[in-house]
Amino acid sequence: MRCIIKGIVFDIKKYAIHDGPGIRSTVFLKGCPLSCIWCHNPESKGFAIEQIKKELKLDGKVLESMETVGKEMTVREVMAEIEKDILFYEESGGGVTFSGGEVFAQHEFLLALLKSCKEKGIKTCVDTSGYVNRNILEKAIPLTDLFLYDIKLMDDELHKKYCGVPNGQILDNFRVIFESGTEVRLRFPVIPTITDTEINLRKTAEFTAQFPGVPLDLLPYHKIGKDKYRRLGQKYLMDDIEKPSDEYMHLIAAFFSEYGIKTKIGG
Ligand code: SF4
Repeated sequence: MRCIIKGIVFDIKKYAIHDGPGIRSTVFLKGCPLSCIWCHNPESKGFAIEQIKKELKLDGKVLESMETVGKEMTVREVMAEIEKDILFYEESGGGVTFSGGEVFAQHEFLLALLKSCKEKGIKTCVDTSGYVNRNILEKAIPLTDLFLYDIKLMDDELHKKYCGVPNGQILDNFRVIFESGTEVRLRFPVIPTITDTEINLRKTAEFTAQFPGVPLDLLPYHKIGKDKYRRLGQKYLMDDIEKPSDEYMHLIAAFFSEYGIKTKIGG
């Protein structure tokens, strides 16, 4: 009997230009074992299909309805969506990005999708927190053209406090990817008072500098996800934190440059 692999997808974004090179389709898989306090996609964290309140303003009135977040899809169904834009990928040097949530939380589904893309000659990018069993990661590496890899807090206790899990496996896995020779970009969220402390910046720079040629994308904190917490009936814990200014982001970039790290502001 042939096994049909299915997964829960919460969005497929077409013509994406910030999730890797060229024009891309970004497939968002639902569910994440982390619980970053600043997460701007709270609807991506839960593994189950759920409901979020939807509000429509009309003539000064607010009309409420419920919207379903997450859809069960087979590999074939996702590939059918991806393949619609093959021409754009080829002409722009783009491809498909798998993001989340945490993509490896649905690793069988992810690996099957990566394998299908490989068979069709579609370039792949995996956007991950790196919180994954090494054996699974090693299966994904040969099927992936580019990793976007998050590092957040270098102190294990603070990582547990703000992201809900330890960071040892994440830091170890990064080395595995680097040593494989697969292209990888590090991504560092600049979250005022949490990730931008002097000690965390210094330790992040020291870690990154161990991997010559790996660029670091600096992702400024924003409050875009705030309203989604309210609509999901969840508490938003970041009200006191303000978005960092452009000037401040350039200061952070200059700090990393002193370690010989090539930085970019934004994803
Ligand atoms: S790893 Fe990403 S998706 Fe998961 S909680 Fe953190 S920010 Fe949100």
